[in-house]
Amino acid sequence: MTNWAGNIAFRARDVHRPTTLGELQRLVAGSPAVRALGSGHSFNEIADSPGELVALDRMPQAVEIDSAAARVRVGASTTYARLASVLHANGFALANLASLPHISVAGSVATGTHGSGVTNRSLSAAVSGLELVTADGSMATLERGDADFPGAVVALGALGVVTTLTLDLVPAFELRQYVREDLPPGYPFEEVMADGHSVSLFTDWRSTRVWLKRRTELPPGDWYGTRPAGGPRHPVPGMPAGSCTEQLGVPGPWHERLPHFRSDSPPSSAGDELQSEFLLPREHATEALAALTAVGDRIRPVLQISEVRTVAADDLWMSPSRDRDSVAVHFTWVKDWAAVLPVLTLVEDVLAPFDPRPHWGKLFTRWPSCPERFRELVSRYDPAGTFGNDFLRHAVPDTS
Ligand SMILES: Cc1cc2nc3c(=O)[nH]c(=O)nc-3n(C[C@H](O)[C@H](O)[C@H](O)COP(=O)(O)OP(=O)(O)OC[C@H]3O[C@@H](n4cnc5c(N)ncnc54)[C@H](O)[C@@H]3O)c2cc1C
Repeated sequence: MTNWAGNIAFRARDVHRPTTLGELQRLVAGSPAVRALGSGHSFNEIADSPGELVALDRMPQAVEIDSAAARVRVGASTTYARLASVLHANGFALANLASLPHISVAGSVATGTHGSGVTNRSLSAAVSGLELVTADGSMATLERGDADFPGAVVALGALGVVTTLTLDLVPAFELRQYVREDLPPGYPFEEVMADGHSVSLFTDWRSTRVWLKRRTELPPGDWYGTRPAGGPRHPVPGMPAGSCTEQLGVPGPWHERLPHFRSDSPPSSAGDELQSEFLLPREHATEALAALTAVGDRIRPVLQISEVRTVAADDLWMSPSRDRDSVAVHFTWVKDWAAVLPVLTLVEDVLAPFDPRPHWGKLFTRWPSCPERFRELVSRYDPAGTFGNDFLRHAVPDTS
């Protein structure tokens, strides 16, 4: 039993798949150690359990749209791919999506998963309410405005097993996706990143391509000194573009342009990879990217590709983009941990002056400090440590 990439072998005894809420509540109440597993796309031990794992993919996966309130209540293990197609058919959209739609809503929200866009917040920031099974098997409901709510959304699975989430919606919209080659050095970072609904830079720290997702057509011309890609491109050089969403400026629905990868194909390097990502205050973007470029010769031998995105600030206590507009610097590494580790620590050294926060679902070695109010929340919800694991002992120290 492993995560999606196969780099983590789960130690949990078993994965349980309850089919009803009652069954799930009995399982949690009767287990001294249990954690929820989403779609398993995290690259570290965050989802593992020293006891039992529980997957909710056999529970009813409701997608209930409240058109008047522009909200949807969704079953926790629903994937963004399924959710998005139902929303679109009903004239609604989510403000943003991650690079892949294969991931579960609860698992993504629990780690602060994000896409790109200077005004787009993390996917977790769209949550307005959630229901969860707590350690004694009883239900808790939290809504935006409740005192504990900002700690309960990006919660790393530490408070209980989330069964449903309510998300904010926007009207469905169309996007055009363009890939532009050879962004010259010295480009104006803020302007480039703001010139689309979602803008990603893919770089090997020597040359840079831009994934531009715009609501309006890109006017002709050499956009910031770039040239148009001659055909569809995969973000990872050498990978076939057939697994990627439509490019070349063809207009299409939001959910078929925002993710880089199609829902019916394996994303990224199909799991032959490791991933890390760090979020820094956006005002440090140009300086931090220059510092990484300076060590590019050390990074490239173990790098498949890096991606640079922007994430707007949210107010969720454990969110990597909490209280600060961020630049997110991502690394898709080769699948060789021994070779990657020294380079990852070099990257962490280089980024240290810029106050980086790691993506909770990816690989890192330096633990950020835990806000005291989240530690208190975990102690209150889970005093016996039912939802604990080794990862949480580092992320939320001094809880049982
Ligand atoms: C190819 C690839 C591309 C990616 N692209 C992006 C990207 O664009 N942006 C980004 O930010 N991240 C990205 N990620 C990382 C990914 O979004 C996160 O790791 C995310 O958490 C995965 O969701 P999951 O459903 O697989 O969760 P899992 O990995 O299964 O679990 C993650 C956490 O969520 C908890 N959890 C899951 N379900 C529940 C539940 N029902 N109740 C309580 N807790 C729960 C688990 O206990 C665990 O702590 C990518 C990963 C891959 C493999």
